[in-house]
Amino acid sequence: MATPENKLAFDGGWEYSPAPESTDHIKVEKKYELFIGGDFVKPESGKYFNTINPATEERLSRVALANDADVDKAVKAARKAYRGPWSRMKPADRGKYIYRIARIIQERAREFAAIESLDGGKPIREARDVDVPLASAHFFYYAGWADKLEYAFPGRKVRPMGVAGQIIPWNFPLLMAAWKVAPALACGNTVVLKPAETTPLTAMKLAEVIADAGLPEGVVNIVTGAGDTGSSIVSHPGVDKIAFTGSTEVGRIIQRALAGSKKKYTLELGGKAANIIFADAAIDEAVEGIVNGIFFNQGHVCCAGSRLFVQESVAEQVIRKLKDRMETLIVGDPLDKNTDIGAINSKAQLETIQSYLDIGKQEGADIYQSACALPDKGYWCRPTLFTGVSQSNRVVQEEIFGPVLAIQTFRTFDEAISKANNTPYGLSGGVWTDKGAKIFRMTQSVRAGVVWANTFNKFDPTSPFGGYKESGIGREGGLHGLDAYLRLEA
Ligand code: NAP
Ligand code: MG
Repeated sequence: MATPENKLAFDGGWEYSPAPESTDHIKVEKKYELFIGGDFVKPESGKYFNTINPATEERLSRVALANDADVDKAVKAARKAYRGPWSRMKPADRGKYIYRIARIIQERAREFAAIESLDGGKPIREARDVDVPLASAHFFYYAGWADKLEYAFPGRKVRPMGVAGQIIPWNFPLLMAAWKVAPALACGNTVVLKPAETTPLTAMKLAEVIADAGLPEGVVNIVTGAGDTGSSIVSHPGVDKIAFTGSTEVGRIIQRALAGSKKKYTLELGGKAANIIFADAAIDEAVEGIVNGIFFNQGHVCCAGSRLFVQESVAEQVIRKLKDRMETLIVGDPLDKNTDIGAINSKAQLETIQSYLDIGKQEGADIYQSACALPDKGYWCRPTLFTGVSQSNRVVQEEIFGPVLAIQTFRTFDEAISKANNTPYGLSGGVWTDKGAKIFRMTQSVRAGVVWANTFNKFDPTSPFGGYKESGIGREGGLHGLDAYLRLEA
């Protein structure tokens, strides 16, 4: 019955009361130094850069900018720690340190979540329910492997690689740090980590955790900076292994720089995932999966389901339901627990997304954006759909890395596969159907490192993650993630 209250709900008139996460419990310093050799040290460069809150454009802190001399210091500290205590320590003791990191992250979960949300613009709900628990889970998982490496690779002798240089992006700052640091330490390596320029704060909090966990000095070094800092790590002769997560463009530069060197490397790069909805799927669940696939974390997800393929007979229904659902999504204050879509991570990224919105229109696609209000300050993008696109359109082929979905239809299974695989990327994919047989055929035919069935964007430390084609080389997570940090001998 249409009471005045539920009529209001049907008209989309509900106003949620604000439910902001408090920031009283967090501590952000005015200035952060580099974390080298177990100490917070001033940068040789003498320079600092600002990290801002992309939801307000206000400065949160000033952070040290590491130059070649700083990176050199960090690599030397890592080498010393590697030769000294870390590679000689009993593996079970290494495990204890890693467990300690996991537990301290859990204890400080609220602080990590709030800072992640402030520095990067992601909704607090995601930072709280996804980033931080998964980061801690990664440390727990790899702590367990530290003294069992020989069982992971039966019949082989396992040796660490030495000093690992690790470079990470801004979309899951703490989680990407955990993906990199946890397996490296479990395997007996030491680390020089560089977070992204726009999101250094949870990495610096991780430095505090590492210091509090009492790790021997120099085992983990964290150098903040921009692209040049990353490039300095890549070219440093004292680094044995490079682990990079970021764009395919920078991945190519790194691969070129490493060609001919003895350094091992893993590259986790971009993606343009196909999310495929068959007519026999549970449509309402699939619509939630589409929303999660592309609007989760503002679409700042390498494995985002940014290409939607819907079977023709249900396309109209799916698109209608999707538009209805988009109208209910709340875009705004990332610290508010009601918020579904937070701030775009930086001005530069917002400009990139906006340029793709223009490109899509020029290519003749139809654009649909939800009608939600946007805050006055900060960087925002309404959830967006492109329909009427073709396979060759740039908005279908290129990674936009924002809340922008390109929708196409298909009639047959084979058509869905050939369209889904028509991409230079191969990181992830999704399939929605009632039929198990279709799921199995699909997962074998989509050329992607992970294919989710009747769900999307699910992660677990036990499960390997990584790409085909231009999405990268190597795997992170699970047993495969150990392989990337070990020399295996007969
Ligand atoms: P990016 O521009 O490639 O940057 C990634 C990291 O590399 C940052 O720390 C960056 O530093 C640094 N960097 C920049 N230029 C460098 C150079 N010449 N040498 C060494 N390091 C350099 O990528 P992003 O824009 O931060 O992140 C978005 C990209 O990451 C997307 O393409 C996304 O698909 C990908 N990604 C992939 C995965 C995966 O697992 N496959 C996961 C997450 C994200 P500054 O930020 O300080 O410039
Ligand atoms: Mg920031």
